[in-house]
Amino acid sequence: MIQGRCPICSKPFSIDRIEDLPTFPFCSERCRLVDLGRWIDESYSIPGPPAELDPDQADAPPRPPESNGRARED
Ligand SMILES: [Zn+2]
Repeated sequence: MIQGRCPICSKPFSIDRIEDLPTFPFCSERCRLVDLGRWIDESYSIPGPPAELDPDQADAPPRPPESNGRARED
């Protein structure tokens, strides 16, 4: 028996196995989504360095250097 309390709405629950509560540790899908929304809100509010991608480099795949070693003059 697993007893817990939903971290979102504080509703207590008791289950036999984790599998009985797919939304564990939340009591319901709704509370799970609420928690997910909080995480997303936090990550948006934290200012981070912008991901700078050089459009030229990002678009072109890396090419092996051209070699003219096969050209022979005999
Ligand atoms: Zn809940």
